[in-house]
Amino acid sequence: MALGIPSTRTDHARTVRDLLASGAQSYSFEFAAPKTEKGERTLWNAIRRIEAVAPTFVSVTYGAGGSSRDGTVRATERIATETTLTPVAHLTAVNHSVAELRNVIGSYAGAGIRNMLALRGDPPGDPMGEWVPHPRGVRYAADLVRLIKESGDFCVGVAAFPEMHPRSPDWESDIRHFVDKCRAGADFAITQMFFYPEDYLRLRDRVAAAGCETPIIPEIMPVTNVRQIERFAQLSNAAFPPELAERILAVKDDPAAVRSLGIEYATELCARLMGEGIPGLHFITLNHSTATLEIYENLGLHQRPR
Ligand code: FAD
Repeated sequence: MALGIPSTRTDHARTVRDLLASGAQSYSFEFAAPKTEKGERTLWNAIRRIEAVAPTFVSVTYGAGGSSRDGTVRATERIATETTLTPVAHLTAVNHSVAELRNVIGSYAGAGIRNMLALRGDPPGDPMGEWVPHPRGVRYAADLVRLIKESGDFCVGVAAFPEMHPRSPDWESDIRHFVDKCRAGADFAITQMFFYPEDYLRLRDRVAAAGCETPIIPEIMPVTNVRQIERFAQLSNAAFPPELAERILAVKDDPAAVRSLGIEYATELCARLMGEGIPGLHFITLNHSTATLEIYENLGLHQRPR
């Protein structure tokens, strides 16, 4: 059942599906919705610097527990209307009824946004706490994919987990449910951050062995300070390479040296992945553009034809 939500078609409303189908590797950046005026200025400085390198698309996260709903909608709409960038709006099912989800989808459509990342989201507070669906909401990301697809002509992405979703009991069910999301209509996937290329490659092989060809874009986040080592593990469950931790801790009193090690490691990870025929790279910026743009330049991507 299509709701007939209009989607304004502009040059910025290209779909990630079509951009990926063109065959060129995609380069994209992730921002978080700002919570303060100062945060908004920082975000827009980063957006303008990233706009200058003409990425394939950019995405804006939806706050944990659905908390940044208005901020995400506003920032994504502004990217769609005031920049040359193609935005992907994240949307989570946490604390939302189906009616509220339809409302957000309608707001995105009204701003000409055609790309969404459909996520279940984590419970507010403890991300590993019990996940209780809204009584009139949806339970899994696959349901959200179906809801978005029924609501209009959208291109939908989903999450993938190179080290398995932390709630999955085993790989078999993890891959089965991932493939279900793709069969529900997902056009592409973006992974959780990871540090070992083999984790991504194994996931890709497992998904392909299950007969699923949905492109899976690896997500990259460079370490730029010592505090992130612990925080990464808490946030993403990603195994942090002990050899990298050791090298970083050896220079922990020299922030520039820490940052440079993190950027060097991420550059090598990207270079290895690019040699493996990946569909693209998605960089987490934390709303600061400099580290990810440095990696981008190290890889020679600033000179790519646009
Ligand atoms: P699902 O695909 O629903 O999977 C969740 C768990 O349920 C998995 O273990 C899966 O195997 C299992 N499962 C799925 N279907 C079934 C079924 N039918 N029966 C039984 N089990 C099933 N969070 C935010 O809050 N905001 C964001 O903006 C955000 N952006 C993200 C971007 C990326 C690229 C990634 C990788 C994650 C992001 N997250 C974000 C985090 C994400 O919301 C959490 O990791 C969440 O726990 C999983 O969401 P999902 O969409 O993969 O869930």
